[in-house]
Amino acid sequence: MATAQSLSHVWPLGTTLNAAGHIEVGGCDLVDLAREVGTPAYIVAEDDLRARAREFREAFPADVHLSFATKAFPCTAVLRVLAEEGIGADVASGGELQIALRAGVAPGMVTLHGNAKSERELGEALDAGVGLIVVDNTDELDRLDRLATREQDVMIRVAPDVRGDTHDHISTGQADTKFGFSLADAPTAMERIRASERLRLRGVHLHIGSQLLELDPFRRAIEAVAALGPMEAINVGGGLGVAYTPDDHPPSVQEYADVKVGAIREYLGPDVAILDEPGRALVAAAGVTIYGVQSVKRNVSTWVAVDGGMSDNLRPMLYGARYEAVLASRPGGSTRCHVVGKHCESSDVIVRDAMLDDPRPDDIVVTPVTGAYCYAMANQYNGVPRAPVVFVRDGDARVVVRRETYDDLLSRDVL
Ligand SMILES: *Cc1c(COP(=O)(O)O)cnc(C)c1O
Repeated sequence: MATAQSLSHVWPLGTTLNAAGHIEVGGCDLVDLAREVGTPAYIVAEDDLRARAREFREAFPADVHLSFATKAFPCTAVLRVLAEEGIGADVASGGELQIALRAGVAPGMVTLHGNAKSERELGEALDAGVGLIVVDNTDELDRLDRLATREQDVMIRVAPDVRGDTHDHISTGQADTKFGFSLADAPTAMERIRASERLRLRGVHLHIGSQLLELDPFRRAIEAVAALGPMEAINVGGGLGVAYTPDDHPPSVQEYADVKVGAIREYLGPDVAILDEPGRALVAAAGVTIYGVQSVKRNVSTWVAVDGGMSDNLRPMLYGARYEAVLASRPGGSTRCHVVGKHCESSDVIVRDAMLDDPRPDDIVVTPVTGAYCYAMANQYNGVPRAPVVFVRDGDARVVVRRETYDDLLSRDVL
């Protein structure tokens, strides 16, 4: 029998088991919701999203500029909610810039990133009047200096030579990286910007990696870039890890903010302006994915096949990410099984060794903590239309991105 203990701390704020024993997110029974919007679908608890945004705002001093790393959940509805909560957007391409602008994020609240920005993308950012461009390399600096027709605030991205304890594929602060200037090359780039007529150097940006569960690397990275001398502002990137499974216990948002702000005050003094760019930790926990079980078979292990997979969540295949899976109608259980997708790859395993309650076709499987980097990396492998995004709140469900159709799949083919 399902109890409140069946649900771990990783679920969105306000998730409950209702009288039928079903999981309810944002007041919506996930079994009913699956019937209504279809599966697979990304479900986002709007209250959780807003609560995290407020938690970040309150954890940092009021004058800290927060921007959401759009790549974590590049969806206008998400950016709009965050903008309402006073959070800007950082974008890493012309497309993400469009998403942020269409979401209504004020251009002055947008930061442009990227290690291979094209002339077109730089031009679009300049035309839009983005608040900040973070320069990654000398070639880009040449291009930007040539393109700018009026004053533009910039920072330079620096690789502080600090390695956070995370998967290699999402570590970015080490010396041997494609991101940013080395500590050795940064002073020359800073001199060049100071000499530019139109570029105005605000300071240094760093982002050492993602899903970091220890805070000390942030402190060491800030100490390392402080050696570049006094600066008006510092942008300390994102990186806070989240709990994906009940065994994960990441630092709190407050601890993250205290370590970053503390290190900045210690190494750069009381007056430097602070910018922070959370991605994952703002949105991951607000999202759950619902899937419909298509088949259950026993080939040595028990294989529970659902109607999505690596087209809606690439993280397990890209870097071994772990998730929890439960049945929406019977959380808990003791049937050890692998929850797998419908794609033609053996790596298409969403959750290995999940414990479900005797899963059967038509059951709804839910994986929590899919708000970050899932929709973002969705693809149409095997011609599977991409899943919708549905906001839930107070018992109401609102489709904010509709499901892709077969016509959408074919819309670019020149027939
Ligand atoms: C990805 C990214 C972030 C956000 O990282 P999270 O780990 O999702 O918080 C922030 N800044 C930059 C430059 C990034 O590339």
